[in-house]
Amino acid sequence: MAYVRIEAISREKLLNSAEDRWRAIAAARPDLAPALALQRALLTLVVDLAAVIDAGRLPRLSLPPKYLAAKLARGVPMLAGEPVPVPVRVLLPTLGQLCDALAIGGAGDAATHIREAIDGGNIEPASLLTASLTRNQAAVRTGAVHRGLAPDLVWLVAELAVSPFVHALQRALLGNAVGDELRAALDGWHHGHCPACGSWPAVAEVVAGHRTLRCSFCASAWELPSYACIYCGEKGEKFVTAAPNADRPDRRIEVCSACGGYLKTIDLPELSPFPLLSISDIETTDLDVSAMEHGYGRPPLRDFAKRSG
Ligand SMILES: [Zn+2]
Ligand SMILES: [Zn+2]
Repeated sequence: MAYVRIEAISREKLLNSAEDRWRAIAAARPDLAPALALQRALLTLVVDLAAVIDAGRLPRLSLPPKYLAAKLARGVPMLAGEPVPVPVRVLLPTLGQLCDALAIGGAGDAATHIREAIDGGNIEPASLLTASLTRNQAAVRTGAVHRGLAPDLVWLVAELAVSPFVHALQRALLGNAVGDELRAALDGWHHGHCPACGSWPAVAEVVAGHRTLRCSFCASAWELPSYACIYCGEKGEKFVTAAPNADRPDRRIEVCSACGGYLKTIDLPELSPFPLLSISDIETTDLDVSAMEHGYGRPPLRDFAKRSG
């Protein structure tokens, strides 16, 4: 079974479980307090937006199971290249609030300028949110640089604002996958990128020995049939799993000298529900530092769509 289903839980349970994890991280790593405060502000906005999206209706996509199965068989994610209408009016208030939270939480003027560009019509929210949904990093970067805005920050706020929508789409597409052919195609998915949106995993969460990849954008969860580099498939001696801190064997990095990629893995009692996956990410930032110090990196997003520019 490649695709792993994660049951939805109530907003209250979600936030309680997030608070428990933040408290534990803050106790172990007091230096992360400002980063955790910012994450709390951002995730609360995302959780609230997710509740609005869950209460509404998702756009009806005409994606027949046979068509999706054929895409997956070619290694192409379900949503790649599909024209999906983004609910701009629903996402827009949160987009602005995310800028405000970032401005207060450390990004300062760089975040305020993005908010001003959105409010003043200098950024067209529909184009920005659509570019994020379709993973068009080049378009977001170029647009930001052109307007004198911080590209990474523009990418981040758009990604956070779109994430509850793409998560809902992912659940609908993967969770309700019907037809033997589509189920078989999903079960046979053996790629390191997400079968729904094509993004790389943020981390692998390991529960009871099962290494489950977790998409950094839509939070889908999938297991691979073999233990190998998720980027290039290397499974020989060039692919190594190590725990940089000997006292914490539950937190590891998989590094691959064949392609130079790395992936963080963390043992947990259960898989993180959306959007708490970013807590697994933030509590392992020292692993990113360690991997990067040794010259490993994360490859850019894969491009599945033909871009017009
Ligand atoms: Zn995804
Ligand atoms: Zn590799």
